Amino acid sequence: MPDIKFGTSLPSPDEKVAVDEAVESHGPVTIELSERLVYGGQKRLKERRHLLLPALHALQRASGWISPGGLDYACRILEVPPAEAYGVATFYHLFSDQPPKGDQILHVCDDIACILNGANDLIDASKQEGYETKPSPCLGQCEKGSAVFVQRVASDDTVIFETDPKEFEKYLTKNSEKEPTKLPQEGSDHLRLLSRIGIVDPNSLEDYKSHGGYKALEKALEMDNEEIIEEVSSSGLRGRGGAAFPTGVKWKAVADEKGKVHHLVCNADESEPGTFKDRILMENDPFALIESMTIAGLAIGAEKGWFYIRGEYPLAKQRLVEAIEKAKKSDLLGNNILGSGRKFDIEIRSGAGAYICGEETALFNSIEGFRGEPRNKPPFPTTNGLFNEPTVVNNVETLANIPRIILHGGESYASEGTDQSSGTRLFCLSGRVASPGLYEFEFGVTLGEILDAAGGFSGSGNLKAILLGGAAGSFVTPESLNLPLTFEDTRNAGVSLGSGVIMAFSDRDDLKKIVLRIAEFFRDESCGQCVPCRVGTVRQEELLIRITDKQTLDADISLFDDLASVMSDASICGLGHTAASAVRSALNLGLLETNNE
Ligand code: SF4
Repeated sequence: MPDIKFGTSLPSPDEKVAVDEAVESHGPVTIELSERLVYGGQKRLKERRHLLLPALHALQRASGWISPGGLDYACRILEVPPAEAYGVATFYHLFSDQPPKGDQILHVCDDIACILNGANDLIDASKQEGYETKPSPCLGQCEKGSAVFVQRVASDDTVIFETDPKEFEKYLTKNSEKEPTKLPQEGSDHLRLLSRIGIVDPNSLEDYKSHGGYKALEKALEMDNEEIIEEVSSSGLRGRGGAAFPTGVKWKAVADEKGKVHHLVCNADESEPGTFKDRILMENDPFALIESMTIAGLAIGAEKGWFYIRGEYPLAKQRLVEAIEKAKKSDLLGNNILGSGRKFDIEIRSGAGAYICGEETALFNSIEGFRGEPRNKPPFPTTNGLFNEPTVVNNVETLANIPRIILHGGESYASEGTDQSSGTRLFCLSGRVASPGLYEFEFGVTLGEILDAAGGFSGSGNLKAILLGGAAGSFVTPESLNLPLTFEDTRNAGVSLGSGVIMAFSDRDDLKKIVLRIAEFFRDESCGQCVPCRVGTVRQEELLIRITDKQTLDADISLFDDLASVMSDASICGLGHTAASAVRSALNLGLLETNNE
């Protein structure tokens, strides 16, 4: 036990039980580690700190906050200094260091899509009704919002969509909606990843198998790992989380790290405002992701996969937990997959409300029980990833492509889309479109064609702007409707596909408010580790307020350009690199001018 100081507060009996259960349910308490390079290179031969995040979740759920006595208790068991654990607990939006006023906290989404649906009024009305209410960054329900994430004490969390707080009461004791998702493209030939959504029963392994499930794993078990990686490489599959890195290259780099423990991480911390595609895949087709991860694990030589899912997705987590249990019982996970002698297992870890944990190295720190602060790269995750060991991190949508590639071959997959952007892409449509929701198209479809498929612009006024790629993306105007949506075409146009967000705005919408919300989002979500981003995101918001208020103009716009360049060039991670992107594009396109008149 390190030489550390504890307070005198004691845990409640419920808190003790909660921590004990959380620790016991997460497999071996102690992970053997070799050497950590990240925090000063110190040697730690035994490490149980990776259980800190589950323990904090258990405390928050048990009593609605991280009490001093509960935190001390978790720290004694996990051998973590309380001061450090407090630093971790206060890093996350969903952990509170103050006791709750009641037995639930309502997190009302007031991010860019929900603002259009009256989120600010909903927050005021919810407070007036006496609910403990907090504004929340995007909850990933943009096609349905306004959304409310209900964090309960001693019970499961849920999400509700009621817009009248007087009616909240009848939903607050229920669990999340379990109706099958209805896709706007239901029955379309375009569907590949979404072909089972709304059709297959997400709770039934048998139903998944009857819709072609687990055929790809059976085939993969007859291939060696190099053959699997070869198919993925020849498919041209690129990451769908935003960076578009070739998946086969990443897999091969980790597979080639011989003689070390390898990890696979599925990044399901979908938090980019406007994005909800991964949630729909997880909620409606969980076995497909388990099958995909198992194939990926075989290919890269990982015996353990980590599923890091954002805390605000209770239904997706529940579906995955149940699906993993069923897969284990059927030898589709475990020590002898389908009698092959091959091993692979999956552990779920929940995020706790921190956008930055979608950054892969921040995600590692979060799983390891540290603050979710990104690491400097290099070294890259393929050599020094989770627990400082070779790690592949893939986004949910990226992994969902794997079974089709294995079943039909990489070349067949690459025949769809374009040379540099193969396959299909999921697009999250929200804002002023007639049929918001999740769409799937081959790469190369134009922005205008997708909007037409979603019923076109809706609402009063005229289409003024489209946010492409999320808050970290860029605004474009209707002049870009002919832009083919591929990695190469968007890059050439100086924009990005990002996480597949397409959010439409009318000339009657207050774009000043939308862009300010984006600036506020990045200021709030910056982890604060590096100066260009920590200070830059604050200054960006201040400058934007001055510019949009027309207090000063030219000098501030030029200062804004300097600021954006410094953030982009000198920040440690992608958050700082892209925090000014959407704001800058709105200014460059003159989108904020009409609302100033
Ligand atoms: Fe943290 Fe921002 Fe620096 Fe990334 S760029 S490490 S989020 S302060």
